[in-house]
Amino acid sequence: MNKKTIRDIDIRGKKVLVRVDFNVPLSSKNPDDHITVTDDTRIQAAMPTLNYLLEHGAALILCSHLGRPKSDADKQYAMNPVARRLSELIDRPVQKMDEVVGESVTAAVSQMKPGDIILLENTRFHPGEKKNDPQLSRQLAALADVYVNDAFGSAHRAHASTEGVARAMRAKGGPAVAGFLMEKELTALGTAVTNPPHPYIAIMGGAKISDKIKLIENLLQKADKILIGGGMANTFLKAQGHHMGKSLVEQDALDEAKRLLHLAGNRLLLPVDLVVADQFAADAHAEIVEVWGVPPESMALDIGPNTLEQFYLELQGARLVVWNGPMGVFEFDQFAQGTNKLALLLAELVETGTQVIIGGGDSAAAVTKAGLADKMSHVSTGGGASLELLEGKTLPGIAVLDDKA
Ligand code: ADP
Ligand code: MG
Repeated sequence: MNKKTIRDIDIRGKKVLVRVDFNVPLSSKNPDDHITVTDDTRIQAAMPTLNYLLEHGAALILCSHLGRPKSDADKQYAMNPVARRLSELIDRPVQKMDEVVGESVTAAVSQMKPGDIILLENTRFHPGEKKNDPQLSRQLAALADVYVNDAFGSAHRAHASTEGVARAMRAKGGPAVAGFLMEKELTALGTAVTNPPHPYIAIMGGAKISDKIKLIENLLQKADKILIGGGMANTFLKAQGHHMGKSLVEQDALDEAKRLLHLAGNRLLLPVDLVVADQFAADAHAEIVEVWGVPPESMALDIGPNTLEQFYLELQGARLVVWNGPMGVFEFDQFAQGTNKLALLLAELVETGTQVIIGGGDSAAAVTKAGLADKMSHVSTGGGASLELLEGKTLPGIAVLDDKA
């Protein structure tokens, strides 16, 4: 990785502004409830960076967005539950601010000593955040001596707390560097983009092709084979002339699907059998059919056992596997088998030395639900960001950080 990290700079006695990804799920959307964090994975993921900075004598000013508030009136997205959980995990007091920037923040920051932690209010409570407002960026940078971005999951957005602030920090002569989570993500996903080991097999699934045309195109340039399952397989199968019944098929993407099939030749593998159901429901009546035999009243909700067998054979001997997109509607147990069995298969491959990288929000959730996240080489914490990186895009929140000399 060619970006400086917190290891490369002096932090002792400094005030360090850290952009973290504390966009965690909450127990309630009602601001009058006692809201708690229901999954603290993302807070835990920031711990190596935060602990390192504390051990090296820094005072921490932390900021993150949380949910999609329209303004600071959406109090259910206030950072209070995050501050409470963080304080438990880090075993120190966390002073939570009620604004992102402003007099109360400036006053509190001026009193900080090494080891102190301040958590700013939800960055999206400020109208300047999503506009990448230079004034907000300057106000944020003015709080600290150093800027650290550890929010990989937000790096694809040029917002004031992810992009503008880094430039503002540089303008006042301070460093803007990556945290350890950012470094870990870039190292793992960067391998797949820049110099993947071969054989390199990509696995794609999820709901739609239209979301991921660029990604499939880029993977076709880098990977030796692409195995396709999930809802997007339906559109490809339809493009090949199969009848897909009531399955999710993107009519508007059929031409794109044909173009990609042509581009890929025999390097793109589609399911040979499917699990179909009479309705989109957890308790639907399900059966396994060949791809040419989808009944007109049925919808395909998972890949079948013969497809898994074929994918298994293709994956043998791979040195790198990148997987994005569940193989079926994994939210319903009955249609989670393709996804779960594939995850199990990949966990076995890791044991024999294959590097397996999982990208995408739902894919990470599916692997976690299957209890196999820690068996993979890398499960990305950044949904959209990981996909954009795999597409070969430059992420603004990363590009702006200081280069290694
Ligand atoms: P990711 O977030 O990992 O990039 P996506 O958002 O593209 O993945 O896709 C995940 C969604 O795709 C899941 O909600 C899953 O239920 C849905 N899905 C997978 N297979 C099918 C299918 N055959 N029909 C309808 N939806 C599907
Ligand atoms: Mg998704």
